Amino acid sequence: MSNENGAISHEKVIIVGSGPAGYTAAIYAARAELKPLMFSGMQPGGQLMITTDVENYPGYAQGIMGPQMMEDFRLQAERFGTRIKYETIAKVELESHPKKIWSETGELYLADTVIISTGATAKWLGIDAEQRYANRGVSACAVCDGFFFRGKEVVIVGAGDTAAEEALYLSKLSPTVHMLIRRDEMRASKIMQNRVLNTPNIKMYWNTEAVDISGEDKVRAVHVKNNQTGEETVIEADALFVAIGHKPNTDIFAGQLDMDEAGYLIVTPGSTYTNIDGVFASGDAADKHYRQAVTAAGTGCMAALDAERWLAAREAEAVSA
Ligand code: NDP
Repeated sequence: MSNENGAISHEKVIIVGSGPAGYTAAIYAARAELKPLMFSGMQPGGQLMITTDVENYPGYAQGIMGPQMMEDFRLQAERFGTRIKYETIAKVELESHPKKIWSETGELYLADTVIISTGATAKWLGIDAEQRYANRGVSACAVCDGFFFRGKEVVIVGAGDTAAEEALYLSKLSPTVHMLIRRDEMRASKIMQNRVLNTPNIKMYWNTEAVDISGEDKVRAVHVKNNQTGEETVIEADALFVAIGHKPNTDIFAGQLDMDEAGYLIVTPGSTYTNIDGVFASGDAADKHYRQAVTAAGTGCMAALDAERWLAAREAEAVSA
């Protein structure tokens, strides 16, 4: 069944992505009776589906498992009438009015407004052990998972601002943070480098890479190699934090939406407005600094309110014309 231009439907709001930002946008848009249609994307629920306990999201006093939390978000969004398509989108034309979105099955959807909440994907080292010990001591988020290893030795890989920030965070919880840097210098800003280098319980390993992990059922040691000398050593530790950057899931919008050199969408500060009228960006796709579930949810709320007000202004213009 198709209507105008061969489209399946013409929506007031289409939300692309189903993490905390997307679901929160959906809850707000649905309660504003905008009947949002959501495309869940490749990983319904987003990055929280691959986390275990979440203890820093307000409202869950006892903590909650990431997948359960996203199930709660989904149920809340659906309760108010959000419709979810468990599909990814293949192509967009955002400049047109209405905006055009093609699903992976080739079907065309029209939308007056689009909220983008496609998130970001953590980069991994690519060693086999990383998958074997996923959620058993290997993590890509020190702020989320560092607390579970307080009082324990931990290893962190990375040399950018994120790694520096996370190493400093971990240094408050762990007796020793073993920091692996693959070159002989850090990429992080000078101020962050200085903080790391002046923190006594952060031990630096220059020209060093993680090559393997051992431990019966969870991480007990990280095997490292000096890439200059070839020397291999073992660091006894209970966790390996990988902090080598994230990639925002925004490739599909390249050439249409303004983004920085890393691909993060650029919004007007203090809002979720992108460079295209009627297109709003929320969550990690537009945030390289905070990247927390609660901040993503906050910007998802902002995006829905921005979309609602944008639609109301358009309707008011149409009435007075
Ligand atoms: P970056 O891309 O800046 O840094 C990634 C780091 O990981 C690099 O040092 C890189 O090493 C290292 N790395 C990449 N792949 C591997 C690998 N396979 N093995 C070992 N090390 C690897 O990412 P960040 O997430 O740190 O930062 C992203 C952006 O966000 C930056 O612009 C940063 O400034 C910004 N940011 C700002 C913050 C702030 O201002 N408070 C906080 C956090 C981020 P190499 O240097 O050798 O390439």
